[in-house]
Formats: sequence, C-alpha cells, structure tokens
Amino acid sequence: EWINFVDFYNRIIDRFEFTKEQNVVFERQLLDHAAFVEFDEDKLTQILVNIISNALKYSPEGGKITFRMIEKEQHLIISVSDEGVGIPKENIGQIFERFYRVDKARTRKLGGTGLGLAIAKEMVEAHGGEIWAESEEGKGTTVSFSLPYVPTEEEDWS
Ligand code: ATP
Ligand code: MG
Repeated sequence: EWINFVDFYNRIIDRFEFTKEQNVVFERQLLDHAAFVEFDEDKLTQILVNIISNALKYSPEGGKITFRMIEKEQHLIISVSDEGVGIPKENIGQIFERFYRVDKARTRKLGGTGLGLAIAKEMVEAHGGEIWAESEEGKGTTVSFSLPYVPTEEEDWS
C-alpha cells in the first residue's frame, strides 16, 4: 500500500520515545512535506523496529539517537544514528548476515539472535532498496536504507 513515510516514521519513533527505559535523547530530522512510498506497512515496521532497537541497545546513558530522512535521486534514504560502541571496520560487512553478532561476549548480555538485520536486508532488497551501515568504534553507528520513491510536486498533495 502507499504510505506517507513522514507520518509513518514519526509514529514509530513516538512509540519508542514513550516506552524507552534508557536515558537517550531523540532528534528528528525528517522531510517537511509528505513522501509516499509503496511498501508493506508491517514489513516496514519490522525493519525500523529492528534498526531502532539496535540503536537503543548499543547507546550509552545520555546518548543521542538521530533519525533522518532525505530525498536522493528517486529514492528516500532513511537513517538512524547512535552514539554507541560502534562496530569494528572488519566486521561491518557481516552484520547483515544471518546469526552474525559482533563480539559474542559483549552482545550476549544484551540479548538477540543476530537475525534482525539479515531480515531487514531481505525485505529492503525485495522492495528494490539497499541497506548499509557506517560506524566508528567508540563514536557510534549509522544504519541507512533506501526505498524507491517518486517525488511529487507539493501542490499535488495540498
Ligand atoms: P536480533 O535483532 O535478532 O534480536 P541482534 O540485534 O544481535 O539480534 P542484528 O540486529 O542482526 O542482531 O545485528 C547484528 C549485530 O550487529 C549485533 O549483534 C551487533 O553486534 C551489531 N550491531 C547492530 N546494530 C548496531 C549498533 N547500532 N551499534 C553497534 N552494533 C550494532
Ligand atoms: Mg537487532
């Protein structure tokens, strides 16, 4: 179905903002106009819930999570940045593999199966998008994905 991604993203972020137990600040940098994508709402929810849960899981006390979305060449690029532990360069290519978890000792106590990002990757790619991560150890991680999107003139929706 067609979803206005701005409203959809806001609703998911709200849900986390109201239920999070950590002291983590949320910052939103979303488009200031509607942006429609054709996507299964449940799948899109699952992708975002996983990425945001990871960001919270690996955030330090008092850290900030920044939610962004931009338009780029017929795509929406959605990203979630945290100020957490980060991912070593040599492991970043593997985090989208099934059951892969960086540093078993560190992540064991945080729980999880290592499937979240593998599932997200399958769903994003099935919809013609891509997913990737950038990270600096000790500084934080940004996980981004793209969705095919046809920009519309603003007046079409007013
Ligand atoms: P699941 O999502 O199945 O509950 P998980 O969160 O461990 O388990 P993924 O979401 O697939 O699995 O993530 C794979 C691994 O990538 C994580 O175990 C963690 O090591 C690393 N990772 C993912 N997101 C972050 C992040 N924001 N900061 C640091 N490491 C991350
Ligand atoms: Mg996860």
